[in-house]
Amino acid sequence: MKIWLDGTLVDEENAKLSVTDHATLYGDGVFEGIRIYDRKIFQCQAHLDRLFASAEFLRLKIPYTRAELTQAMNDCIKANGLTDGYIRLVVTRGAGKLGLNPFNCPKPAVFVVADQIELFSPEFYQTGMPVIIAKTVRISPNMLNPKVKSLNYLNNTLAKIESLDAGVSEALMTNVDGNITEGTGDNIFIVKNGVIFTPPADAGILLGVTRGVTMHLARKLNLEVREENFTPQELLAADECFLTGTAAEIIAVTKVNDQPLGTGQVGPFTKQLQDAFHKFIRTDEQVPYTV
Ligand code: PMP
Repeated sequence: MKIWLDGTLVDEENAKLSVTDHATLYGDGVFEGIRIYDRKIFQCQAHLDRLFASAEFLRLKIPYTRAELTQAMNDCIKANGLTDGYIRLVVTRGAGKLGLNPFNCPKPAVFVVADQIELFSPEFYQTGMPVIIAKTVRISPNMLNPKVKSLNYLNNTLAKIESLDAGVSEALMTNVDGNITEGTGDNIFIVKNGVIFTPPADAGILLGVTRGVTMHLARKLNLEVREENFTPQELLAADECFLTGTAAEIIAVTKVNDQPLGTGQVGPFTKQLQDAFHKFIRTDEQVPYTV
């Protein structure tokens, strides 16, 4: 596998970061996970907008332009001969001195990995997926805002471990107010009485690119979508639930904490949006990333 690292395509074994990189020492950096469909970077603009917004939040200056990063991703796709796949675009704080001060790191490192990804077992796309609600609470926007896609994912990792311990593949997280926020690597939607709900930005979520695309598709289909908070009880009483994400795409949730949700099968709203999504990925239409 070829990796794009700081301007050059190198073999994977030669793609190395410094042990004093603050990404290694403190999880200091930002990243994006991006799909490749039919050799093309899916929603490139939205992902780059989010990357630059995340970096700005951390006062991290990305040493490349959007055009240069796009070129890097395309070079990496080509070098690895990928038609469909997944890109990881990472900007680290860079090598520096010990101690938290990020401004002691003069040069951020930037790299691109382009490979395949399978987040959830393919059968779950037919049957729907069981999840749990984690005891680990999602960090609040005034701690480390979850809208920042930083390299510090331990809050999510702890919830993921809970899900694996419970024998399922994904965990949902509540916030300090007790409302549902998102999964460890995906956004959540529910359907109740014909209306689609997804938690608002201030619930403390990553503003997913797939979430944006899903809301756009729902509105094009004349389905009502509301960004509103809901509780675990409201989730359990929903007619349908699904998760969205770059790696997850759109996947139904049919069981929560061992209790069936809705009919226990993939519901009609979810199915309609999955179909619309699969058509949409073959188009070049861009949905803006809005903060
Ligand atoms: N929430 C979290 C915590 C995530 O890590 C991700 C995946 N990057 C998402 C939501 C979904 O975002 P996107 O649709 O941009 O992949």
